[in-house]
Amino acid sequence: MDRLHVLVVGIDGLRFDLATAERAPHLRGLVARGVTTWMTIPVPTISGPVWATLLTGATAAEHGISDNTFVGSRLAGIPDLLSRAFFADPTRSTFAAAAWPPFVDPAGIGPVIHARDEQRRAERHRVIARDGETYGYRTEDAEIAAFSAAALAGAGPDVSFVYFSGVDEAGHVYGAISRQYVEAISRTDAHLGRLLAAVAERARAGERWLVAVTTDHGHLDGGGHGGGEPEVAASFVTRAAWNVELDAWPDQIEPTELTPRLLAALG
Ligand SMILES: [Zn+2]
Repeated sequence: MDRLHVLVVGIDGLRFDLATAERAPHLRGLVARGVTTWMTIPVPTISGPVWATLLTGATAAEHGISDNTFVGSRLAGIPDLLSRAFFADPTRSTFAAAAWPPFVDPAGIGPVIHARDEQRRAERHRVIARDGETYGYRTEDAEIAAFSAAALAGAGPDVSFVYFSGVDEAGHVYGAISRQYVEAISRTDAHLGRLLAAVAERARAGERWLVAVTTDHGHLDGGGHGGGEPEVAASFVTRAAWNVELDAWPDQIEPTELTPRLLAALG
């Protein structure tokens, strides 16, 4: 039996209730195919601490990150999902792509996903970094999608994390109840569609795949996040599988459970 491949897609600042079938057909298709589990994000609902928790399993008190400056971060000693998957089985290949520099840029203030230079040189780990903070996420997310779809179709890494931030960017500038936020959802859903097409193609060849899509927080109707309002603190994990059964999760999990549960699925 071929080993299980896992792709985690992070969509920053996505309000699930606003990602309707009309606006987000690929995400809603995944919801229909799979299982959606709910999470309530603890305050502060800010990307830095929340993604660090989602991708390591550590609480904010443990990883020390309280905002997007990453001051006080103890991440250097806290391995991420990809690193843990590799150290559990060094034959595994991993891939991470993000246009928010703290995720993957070794020169930045993170990175949340450890750089693992040795494994990068050995081609067990690959990183695509872009800078959406400088150049805007509309173009940089599109590049992340293109490189990631190519990586999935080509190398087919064992464990991947791909991140998009255009939805959050639109939420901050225009608010969640805006044409621009909806358009950003649709653009990002098209990126997700490219990744899912690559996965489906590999699965047709017999590979076993698990895809999980999640977010770090929502947005106020007028834009913004950080507090505990229901529309901001609500998060989800939608999982769907190809050629393998999903393991049973409760309807609601803690953000700290995501990484250990995905590692358990990997076996
Ligand atoms: Zn934000």
